[in-house]
Amino acid sequence: MTNHRRDRAEKRRFETDAVHAGEGRAGAEEDNGTGYYPISTPIYASTTFSHPDIETTDRILGGEQAGFSYARYDNPTVVAFERAVAALESPDGGARAFAFASGMAAMHAALASAELGPGATVLAAEQLYGSTATLLVQVSGMNGVETRFVDCYDLDAVEKKIEELKPRALVIESISNPLLRVADVPRIAEIAHRSGAALIVDSTFATPFLQRPLDLGADIVVHSATKYLSGHGDITAGVVVAGPPYDAALEPFRKLVGGTLGAFEAWLAHRGLKTLPLRVERQCENAREISARLAAHPKVAKVNHPALADHPDRDVARCVLEGSGGLVSFELDVEEAEARKAAFRFLNALRLCVKAPSLGDVYTLAIHPATSSHRELSPARRRRLGVKEALIRLSVGIEHPEDVIGDIEQALETL
Ligand code: PLP
Repeated sequence: MTNHRRDRAEKRRFETDAVHAGEGRAGAEEDNGTGYYPISTPIYASTTFSHPDIETTDRILGGEQAGFSYARYDNPTVVAFERAVAALESPDGGARAFAFASGMAAMHAALASAELGPGATVLAAEQLYGSTATLLVQVSGMNGVETRFVDCYDLDAVEKKIEELKPRALVIESISNPLLRVADVPRIAEIAHRSGAALIVDSTFATPFLQRPLDLGADIVVHSATKYLSGHGDITAGVVVAGPPYDAALEPFRKLVGGTLGAFEAWLAHRGLKTLPLRVERQCENAREISARLAAHPKVAKVNHPALADHPDRDVARCVLEGSGGLVSFELDVEEAEARKAAFRFLNALRLCVKAPSLGDVYTLAIHPATSSHRELSPARRRRLGVKEALIRLSVGIEHPEDVIGDIEQALETL
């Protein structure tokens, strides 16, 4: 596959866009007679925007002229962040980014933009983030949408279900939680498009640094920007990136439903985005090192990480990702009956890694998926998905890897 970060020589490279894109053009064109321009788009803490005359306001509200009118519609700080995300996910300018107050609000909007009305069917990956699956079943379900699930790593099964159900949309994740399976996005896009289904990819775990799903055939990309895009564990945010025809639906949907991102959160997310390449590169390196060391540890039964030789999607990962990601999960080598107790003992013994249910932060975070991200599932469904009681998930941060490994090793010694 081509390297999407290097194929942009005629344009600016990824790292440069991460730093510069979006700045200085949204609302900061005027120096307001001060003689200086802010180099970082300010936080526009303004609910509404006034114009020199009411005719201008009229044109802006009527959509005949670009401009800001009301913060639920858009805001210069939010637009600056959106432009930066769009430059990273869609450097050819074919798609626009829309920022939301959370990853869930972004996914809700993405589903709406795929015109999922009464009678429509959605085919969703069995391995989806639990709240996305529940959103589909409960919220889309209330609107008459039926959701069916499929193992999206079994392409024959995907093909069969698509032919049988003729879904309006297929929802998958670039990299799954917590076993870090890697979806074959180009093949799945091809299968979906053959039957006229839109492909929605939640690319939260991959980030545009490792994959641009739109280039691989996806129609709509969703991120929980709470995670890697902002990267510091200090905001909740989401983004949808899509081109025609989906982008046209996203703007009015957001205006009406009102899940618009706040200016302060947009500013922090935009600031975080500038270091995305540095952070993710380091997180990938650290995760590779940590997974290799865990794989050799006598108290660890199994390690899941796309760079490891025994990972089921290692070859797919090499084709669709430019790196193996910053997440690692592993099973403690303990009896099943003792597994939960051992997992809790391990987590309580950690001194540096933070016990907290999120990911993509500069800190290394550790969770017990069976009692956190997959808590709502029945034990049988957890077993089917391979989420064992002895499984621990790490979202590797940017600390020195030896300090993280040292912390994990001392916690393993308590078992
Ligand atoms: N998608 C994935 C893959 C997630 O892991 C999460 C949250 O953990 C979400 C979406 C939802 O994001 P948020 O918590 O920002 O609403």
